[in-house]
Amino acid sequence: DNPIARKPEWIRVRAPNHPTYHETRKLMRDNNLVTVCEEAACPNIGECWSQRHATMMIMGEICTRACAFCNVTTGLPNALDGDEPGRVADAVAKLGLRHVVITSVDRDDLPDGGAHHFARVIGAIRASAPDTTIEILTPDFLRKPGALEVVVRARPDVFNHNLETVPRLYTTIRPGARYYQSMRLLDDVKRMDPSIFTKSGLMLGLGEERPEILQVMDDLRIADVDFITLGQYLQPTVKHAAVARFVTPEEFADYASMARVKGFLQVSSSPLTRSSYHADSDFAQLRAA
Ligand code: SF4
Ligand code: SF4
Repeated sequence: DNPIARKPEWIRVRAPNHPTYHETRKLMRDNNLVTVCEEAACPNIGECWSQRHATMMIMGEICTRACAFCNVTTGLPNALDGDEPGRVADAVAKLGLRHVVITSVDRDDLPDGGAHHFARVIGAIRASAPDTTIEILTPDFLRKPGALEVVVRARPDVFNHNLETVPRLYTTIRPGARYYQSMRLLDDVKRMDPSIFTKSGLMLGLGEERPEILQVMDDLRIADVDFITLGQYLQPTVKHAAVARFVTPEEFADYASMARVKGFLQVSSSPLTRSSYHADSDFAQLRAA
């Protein structure tokens, strides 16, 4: 009794048919890699993959968490694959990426939450594609002491961790996570290494109110977070949290100007924004500026 809400006309997705899309797809298959683009059924896959921009998801396809918005399978994950860093690095080199985004499932089952594996992936990419800038989108490393230090020491260019929603909605939308843990993680990264850009994002349309979003922006700026992304939540299946409303493009534009006023260096706020959407061109622009 929860039909998926009809999408408004501003959520338009073009069918993927560009030759480069198929090349990207083949490379991911050949290297036996998982992408969040596919796992999350991202609406931008046609556009992104046609530009060789794919976000790889490391440490398997099974997650130890069960976020109400996420299409990834929950369960006990498989053992880590020691060859994965090499395969990711090979794909990054073959795609010729100037910027790559690497994310993962949550690995609450591992003593370090997967921190050393993240560090190995960063090291392998640096070796095979030294000119590629690296953005990682990490779990919260809740109750994994020392894990964050391992990842920060590997020196990614951008450290992204999404808050996903406003604190009031955590118990229903992100039940395994804690708002302040996520905020502290971002704050800690900046304290450990101020040369790393920090980034976070929210999905809108889950029932949050405008003052709550503005408060989260303020909290992020207090933690010196540099970049922010805001996009429309889309319900993957009827089993997932329903869309409370579709936020209009005008509202997204208003949030973008509020975020700039609050001092974020890079802002992406639109219905189809995802945390990895246009991450490559946005980061290149920032470095050129
Ligand atoms: Fe993949 Fe991110 Fe593009 Fe979606 S926005 S297709 S997740 S790279
Ligand atoms: Fe999905 Fe990440 Fe939540 Fe796991 S932790 S269910 S991958 S959003």
